[in-house]
Amino acid sequence: MTLPPPRADVVLMDGYHSPRLDVKVRLNVNEAPEGPPAAFLEALEREIHNSGLNRYPDLSATALREAIGAHHGVRREEVFCANGSNEVLQSLLLAFGGPGRAVAVFSPTYALHSHIAAITGTAVLEAERDEEFLIHAEAIEQVMARGAAMLAESDPRGAFGTRRAVNPVITFCCSPNNPTGRLEPDDRLDAVLARAPGLVVADEAYGQFAPRSALDRRGEHPELVVVRTFSKTWSLAGLRLGYAVADPAVIEAMERVTLPYHLDAIKQAAGRLALGFADEMRARVSRLVHERGRLCAELSALGCSVVPSDANFILFSPPVSDAKAVWSSLVEHSVLVRDVSSWPRLAGYLRVTVGTPEEDDAFLAGLRAAL
Ligand code: PMP
Repeated sequence: MTLPPPRADVVLMDGYHSPRLDVKVRLNVNEAPEGPPAAFLEALEREIHNSGLNRYPDLSATALREAIGAHHGVRREEVFCANGSNEVLQSLLLAFGGPGRAVAVFSPTYALHSHIAAITGTAVLEAERDEEFLIHAEAIEQVMARGAAMLAESDPRGAFGTRRAVNPVITFCCSPNNPTGRLEPDDRLDAVLARAPGLVVADEAYGQFAPRSALDRRGEHPELVVVRTFSKTWSLAGLRLGYAVADPAVIEAMERVTLPYHLDAIKQAAGRLALGFADEMRARVSRLVHERGRLCAELSALGCSVVPSDANFILFSPPVSDAKAVWSSLVEHSVLVRDVSSWPRLAGYLRVTVGTPEEDDAFLAGLRAAL
């Protein structure tokens, strides 16, 4: 028997996955450079001993959602948790996307927004960011025009009787944006909120490294969904935990599409306990922000063109024509950064995660040697 071919429409963009090479300094996937605090690990160990793993976990992750709610000053009903913010995004698309529906993205941006949309059969309407990698005022009009064109192509004679445009049911606003590091200025976010016809998802995976958050705008905008993760600031990328803060009706819709018991008991406990270490995490964030400033200055002094960053990584273009050769030379110096030079609009660019001062020094030494 011949096996059926898998779907051809869900292949992730070429070169998206960063190679896992055996190097001393890993600055390629925006992880926290240090592990979580020892006191957190001890508390988690005690919790695991007492947690009765023979039983299924709390189906609605009540204590975890309450703890996240308390952390942000919102109610538990406004919080949805999943296995990493990627799964939060997937739940959003399962709940609101699907055939006949579309989302809007502003490129270059986080590739998983379009990829998960494709997996769920949701069309992607794309507009480019401006030359500073920000969402320009006409971007929403551009995606709406694409939605109208898409309908005209798929249904030229209006066979379904209506000539409605395919408007985005979700508009993704990744801020600070990956891979550029840019925080969307308030007036740009305002323009998106004023014009987008559906939900606006502020993907704030790097939100804690920035001076402002869309969380403060939810009061005036019930359509705003803010997505966050424990992977970066909380030093828990290996644990896989992320969450959304949104209107209870949006949260309920997301809950309807998740599998029962998708969040295991250990993860629920770990997330709740981690929030007890908020002061340590804030101190780590300020150290990283300080280190980011130092790295930016050093990169500029080396002649690199540096994109201003409000995240825990920096997009930069070395002052040579072959960025890929610089990447390879860094690998030879046992430093791994992200080669984004083959991505649309990013020819000549590399992305480096802010690490410990020692890791950053090793990166700068490798870069000096490469140049
Ligand atoms: N959103 C953005 C913008 C990201 O960069 C990432 C991680 N690379 C994620 C979401 C997913 O993070 P996680 O699934 O680890 O929470």
